[in-house]
Amino acid sequence: MNQLEYESNNKTKDKKILSNVDQKNWIHFKLKPGEKIIMCKRCLTLSTRPRAQYDQNGICNACRWSEFKKSKIDWNKRWKELEIICDDFRCSDGSKWDVLVPCSGGKDGTYVAWMLKNKLNMHPLCITMKPQMQTEIGRKNLENFANSGFDHILITPNPKIYQSLAKRGLIEQGRPKMPFVIGISLLIINFALKFNIPLIFYGEEGEEEYGGATSQIGKYKITRDYLINYYYSGHDPSEYLDEFSREELKWWQLPSDKDFEESGLYLTHWSHYENWDPYKHYLLARDKCGFQTLPHRSVGTYTNFAQLDDDLQDLHAYLMYIKFGFGRCWSDACIDIRRGAMDRDQAIALVKAYDGEFPDQLLNKYLDYFEMTEKEFFNVIDSFRSPDIWEKVNGEWKLKFEIK
Ligand SMILES: [Zn+2]
Repeated sequence: MNQLEYESNNKTKDKKILSNVDQKNWIHFKLKPGEKIIMCKRCLTLSTRPRAQYDQNGICNACRWSEFKKSKIDWNKRWKELEIICDDFRCSDGSKWDVLVPCSGGKDGTYVAWMLKNKLNMHPLCITMKPQMQTEIGRKNLENFANSGFDHILITPNPKIYQSLAKRGLIEQGRPKMPFVIGISLLIINFALKFNIPLIFYGEEGEEEYGGATSQIGKYKITRDYLINYYYSGHDPSEYLDEFSREELKWWQLPSDKDFEESGLYLTHWSHYENWDPYKHYLLARDKCGFQTLPHRSVGTYTNFAQLDDDLQDLHAYLMYIKFGFGRCWSDACIDIRRGAMDRDQAIALVKAYDGEFPDQLLNKYLDYFEMTEKEFFNVIDSFRSPDIWEKVNGEWKLKFEIK
């Protein structure tokens, strides 16, 4: 295990953070005795992926789910279920919002909001938290989305608190976007409570789509435990009260169990009612809501239309590669194999070309934001490398397995 060699100019402030470094043990991927890292025989899903499962033929649960979706689910029946839910919650005269949609101007949230409004006659209130390092294309896409006819709220939390939480997320959990992930989920809940909007519509159920735990599907009540376990990687945001005051954490405080119980809030995922197809979402967002793509591919992958709104996304994806040995290209290629857009050999070639790229052009921006030297920054990153995944060969980090 690598020792954390993070040194800071602000030792008093960071001391507490560093004392929690043992918590990293649960983040490191660890092989059981005799276990080997395996890869799905159909897509490329690695067994380092948290909660990935494989059948006796070596096929991962995301591939089996994809097969099941294509052959066994009656999507017409599911769409009728969706219509029933919307009928239950719709405000017939439109004088109130009846559904909350987290939407950052990306293709998926845009698609869900547009469909709810235009195909299901709902009255969505869309909401997002400003990304920590908002990109110009992200700002433009958000503006274009709202201008295409939506009520939209953009919350900008105190940047100083946002930054301090992000630094803690990076050092302790390898999750620089931690304050955004927690913030947006709580923002939605707090606004749903405030405006008395009982239905919240998310996009895809990630565990189900990309391989993970047997998911909770359909419509269900939100609980504190659900948020902590599925959205916050097991971290209750109240643990940050050791460093921040309640006043500073206003956007990051979970309502009590009683508040949840009394609210009657329901949360559901679009992917339960319609086959989740990001490319279709991209086409609709482009044609109906002015969604723009990058003129070049995103760092670490071959696509140019996903997760464009935050420069920290590139660091987030790089840390996934450090923690689990697969990066953004690897994940994208698995999705494209499953939807039949590429074969395994093409996917392997792309992974070999692009996976695990570090966003060099953003390094200085990251160092300024996290107030670290280059050495400190990379020491923090290296502290998330599992010795079961990485080894040093001639002074350079190499993956211990090969993609094939
Ligand atoms: Zn697979």
